Amino acid sequence: MSKTVYLGLGSNIGDRVGHLKRALGELQSRDLRLVRVSSLYETEPVGLREQAWFLNQVAEFETELFPLQLLQRLQRIERLLGRKRLLLNGPRTIDIDILLYANAVVDATELQVPHPRYRERRFVLEPLTELNPKLRDPETHQTMAALLDAVRGQAVRRLVVEQAQIVEGQGVVG
Ligand code: ADP
Ligand code: MG
Repeated sequence: MSKTVYLGLGSNIGDRVGHLKRALGELQSRDLRLVRVSSLYETEPVGLREQAWFLNQVAEFETELFPLQLLQRLQRIERLLGRKRLLLNGPRTIDIDILLYANAVVDATELQVPHPRYRERRFVLEPLTELNPKLRDPETHQTMAALLDAVRGQAVRRLVVEQAQIVEGQGVVG
Protein backbone atom coordinates (compact mmCIF):
# COMPACT_ATOMS: atom_id res chain seq x y z
CA MET A 1 0.00 0.00 0.00
CA SER A 2 1.44 3.33 -0.95
CA LYS A 3 1.23 6.34 1.36
CA THR A 4 1.25 10.05 0.66
CA VAL A 5 4.07 11.89 2.42
CA TYR A 6 5.10 15.52 2.57
CA LEU A 7 8.79 16.32 2.82
CA GLY A 8 10.20 19.72 3.72
CA LEU A 9 13.47 20.76 2.07
CA GLY A 10 15.68 23.70 2.99
CA SER A 11 19.08 25.08 2.03
CA ASN A 12 21.01 28.20 3.03
CA ILE A 13 24.53 27.61 1.72
CA GLY A 14 25.93 28.15 -1.78
CA ASP A 15 23.78 27.22 -4.76
CA ARG A 16 20.52 26.83 -2.85
CA VAL A 17 18.34 26.22 -5.91
CA GLY A 18 20.85 23.64 -7.15
CA HIS A 19 20.84 21.85 -3.78
CA LEU A 20 17.03 21.65 -3.72
CA LYS A 21 16.90 20.36 -7.30
CA ARG A 22 19.61 17.82 -6.69
CA ALA A 23 17.94 16.58 -3.50
CA LEU A 24 14.62 16.12 -5.33
CA GLY A 25 16.42 14.24 -8.10
CA GLU A 26 18.18 11.94 -5.61
CA LEU A 27 15.01 11.33 -3.60
CA GLN A 28 13.01 10.10 -6.58
CA SER A 29 13.09 6.35 -6.94
CA ARG A 30 10.91 3.31 -7.59
CA ASP A 31 9.65 3.24 -3.99
CA LEU A 32 9.55 7.04 -3.48
CA ARG A 33 7.74 8.75 -6.33
CA LEU A 34 7.48 12.51 -6.67
CA VAL A 35 3.90 13.70 -7.14
CA ARG A 36 4.31 17.49 -7.05
CA VAL A 37 6.40 20.28 -5.62
CA SER A 38 5.57 23.69 -4.20
CA SER A 39 7.11 26.98 -5.28
CA LEU A 40 10.33 28.03 -3.62
CA TYR A 41 10.06 30.28 -0.58
CA GLU A 42 12.82 32.50 0.69
CA THR A 43 12.64 32.70 4.45
CA GLU A 44 14.43 34.31 7.34
CA PRO A 45 16.24 31.87 9.65
CA VAL A 46 14.38 30.77 12.80
CA GLY A 47 16.37 30.14 15.98
CA LEU A 48 19.97 30.90 15.04
CA ARG A 49 19.41 34.30 13.39
CA GLU A 50 22.95 35.22 12.31
CA GLN A 51 23.05 33.17 9.12
CA ALA A 52 21.96 33.42 5.48
CA TRP A 53 18.30 33.25 4.48
CA PHE A 54 16.90 29.89 3.52
CA LEU A 55 15.23 28.61 0.41
CA ASN A 56 12.45 26.23 1.39
CA GLN A 57 10.20 23.93 -0.57
CA VAL A 58 7.71 21.16 0.17
CA ALA A 59 7.31 18.08 -2.01
CA GLU A 60 4.55 15.47 -2.07
CA PHE A 61 5.61 11.85 -2.64
CA GLU A 62 3.97 8.44 -2.82
CA THR A 63 5.93 5.75 -1.04
CA GLU A 64 5.97 2.16 0.15
CA LEU A 65 8.79 2.92 2.60
CA PHE A 66 8.00 2.77 6.31
CA PRO A 67 8.69 5.98 8.28
CA LEU A 68 12.09 4.92 9.66
CA GLN A 69 13.17 3.61 6.26
CA LEU A 70 12.18 6.95 4.77
CA LEU A 71 14.21 8.79 7.43
CA GLN A 72 17.29 6.68 6.57
CA ARG A 73 16.80 7.48 2.90
CA LEU A 74 16.61 11.22 3.61
CA GLN A 75 19.68 11.14 5.81
CA ARG A 76 21.69 9.28 3.14
CA ILE A 77 20.81 12.02 0.65
CA GLU A 78 21.68 14.77 3.15
CA ARG A 79 25.12 13.17 3.54
CA LEU A 80 25.49 12.75 -0.22
CA LEU A 81 24.91 16.47 -0.70
CA GLY A 82 27.64 17.21 1.81
CA ARG A 83 25.66 18.17 4.86
CA LYS A 84 27.77 18.41 7.98
CA ARG A 85 26.06 18.74 11.35
CA LEU A 86 28.12 21.44 13.03
CA LEU A 87 25.53 23.51 14.86
CA LEU A 88 21.96 22.71 15.84
CA ASN A 89 19.70 24.84 13.61
CA GLY A 90 22.88 26.08 11.87
CA PRO A 91 23.68 26.62 8.18
CA ARG A 92 23.18 23.61 5.92
CA THR A 93 23.55 22.65 2.26
CA ILE A 94 20.38 20.64 2.59
CA ASP A 95 17.90 19.73 5.32
CA ILE A 96 15.16 17.22 4.56
CA ASP A 97 12.39 16.66 7.11
CA ILE A 98 9.39 14.37 7.15
CA LEU A 99 6.49 16.75 7.78
CA LEU A 100 3.57 14.38 7.38
CA TYR A 101 3.34 10.65 6.65
CA ALA A 102 -0.24 9.86 5.62
CA ASN A 103 -2.27 10.05 8.83
CA ALA A 104 0.41 8.38 10.92
CA VAL A 105 1.59 9.61 14.29
CA VAL A 106 5.12 8.39 15.08
CA ASP A 107 6.88 9.00 18.39
CA ALA A 108 10.25 7.25 18.35
CA THR A 109 13.58 8.55 19.71
CA GLU A 110 14.93 9.33 16.25
CA LEU A 111 11.67 10.28 14.55
CA GLN A 112 8.55 12.23 15.41
CA VAL A 113 5.80 12.61 12.81
CA PRO A 114 4.07 14.96 12.24
CA HIS A 115 7.27 16.99 12.50
CA PRO A 116 7.14 18.42 16.06
CA ARG A 117 7.69 22.06 15.05
CA TYR A 118 5.98 22.35 11.68
CA ARG A 119 2.76 23.87 13.07
CA GLU A 120 4.62 27.04 14.10
CA ARG A 121 6.69 27.41 10.93
CA ARG A 122 5.43 29.66 8.20
CA PHE A 123 8.19 28.46 5.84
CA VAL A 124 6.61 24.99 5.91
CA LEU A 125 2.92 25.89 6.21
CA GLU A 126 3.05 28.34 3.31
CA PRO A 127 4.21 25.71 0.77
CA LEU A 128 2.03 22.97 2.35
CA THR A 129 -1.02 25.20 1.97
CA GLU A 130 -0.05 25.93 -1.62
CA LEU A 131 -0.01 22.18 -2.35
CA ASN A 132 -3.04 21.11 -0.33
CA PRO A 133 -4.91 23.73 1.76
CA LYS A 134 -7.57 21.23 2.89
CA LEU A 135 -5.08 18.66 4.14
CA ARG A 136 -5.66 17.99 7.85
CA ASP A 137 -3.14 17.52 10.61
CA PRO A 138 -3.63 13.98 12.01
CA GLU A 139 -3.36 15.14 15.64
CA THR A 140 -5.14 18.49 15.79
CA HIS A 141 -7.39 17.85 12.75
CA GLN A 142 -6.84 21.44 11.64
CA THR A 143 -6.35 22.18 7.95
CA MET A 144 -3.03 23.49 6.65
CA ALA A 145 -4.79 26.73 5.73
CA ALA A 146 -6.04 27.15 9.33
CA LEU A 147 -2.62 26.36 10.81
CA LEU A 148 -1.03 28.92 8.48
CA ASP A 149 -3.62 31.48 9.47
CA ALA A 150 -2.61 31.11 13.11
CA VAL A 151 1.11 31.78 12.53
CA ARG A 152 2.28 35.29 13.35
CA GLY A 153 5.42 36.98 12.08
CA GLN A 154 8.27 35.32 10.13
CA ALA A 155 9.09 36.84 6.76
CA VAL A 156 8.45 34.53 3.80
CA ARG A 157 8.66 35.45 0.14
CA ARG A 158 7.47 33.28 -2.71
CA LEU A 159 9.90 33.08 -5.61
CA VAL A 160 9.40 32.36 -9.27
CA VAL A 161 12.34 30.35 -10.54
CA GLU A 162 13.14 30.30 -14.23
CA GLN A 163 15.92 27.83 -14.94
CA ALA A 164 18.71 28.64 -12.53
CA GLN A 165 17.69 32.27 -12.27
CA ILE A 166 15.60 33.52 -9.41
CA VAL A 167 13.16 36.28 -10.18
CA GLU A 168 11.23 37.75 -7.32
CA GLY A 169 7.64 36.54 -7.36
CA GLN A 170 4.32 38.17 -6.62
CA GLY A 171 5.48 40.31 -3.74
CA VAL A 172 5.60 39.37 -0.12
CA VAL A 173 3.45 36.49 1.08
CA GLY A 174 2.05 36.97 4.59
P1 ADP B 1 16.59 20.12 12.23
O1 ADP B 1 15.93 19.57 10.99
O2 ADP B 1 15.66 20.16 13.41
O3 ADP B 1 17.27 21.42 12.02
P2 ADP B 1 18.45 17.92 11.91
O4 ADP B 1 18.09 17.89 10.46
O5 ADP B 1 19.90 17.97 12.26
O6 ADP B 1 17.75 19.13 12.66
O7 ADP B 1 17.74 16.67 12.57
C1 ADP B 1 18.04 16.26 13.85
C2 ADP B 1 17.36 14.92 14.10
O8 ADP B 1 15.96 15.06 14.02
C3 ADP B 1 17.65 13.81 13.12
O9 ADP B 1 18.79 13.10 13.48
C4 ADP B 1 16.38 12.95 13.18
O10 ADP B 1 16.62 11.71 13.82
C5 ADP B 1 15.43 13.77 14.01
N1 ADP B 1 14.04 13.82 13.55
C6 ADP B 1 12.96 13.68 14.36
N2 ADP B 1 11.81 13.80 13.70
C7 ADP B 1 12.15 14.03 12.39
C8 ADP B 1 11.37 14.24 11.20
N3 ADP B 1 10.03 14.24 11.24
N4 ADP B 1 12.04 14.44 10.05
C9 ADP B 1 13.41 14.47 10.02
N5 ADP B 1 14.20 14.27 11.11
C10 ADP B 1 13.58 14.06 12.30
MG1 MG C 1 16.22 17.98 9.61
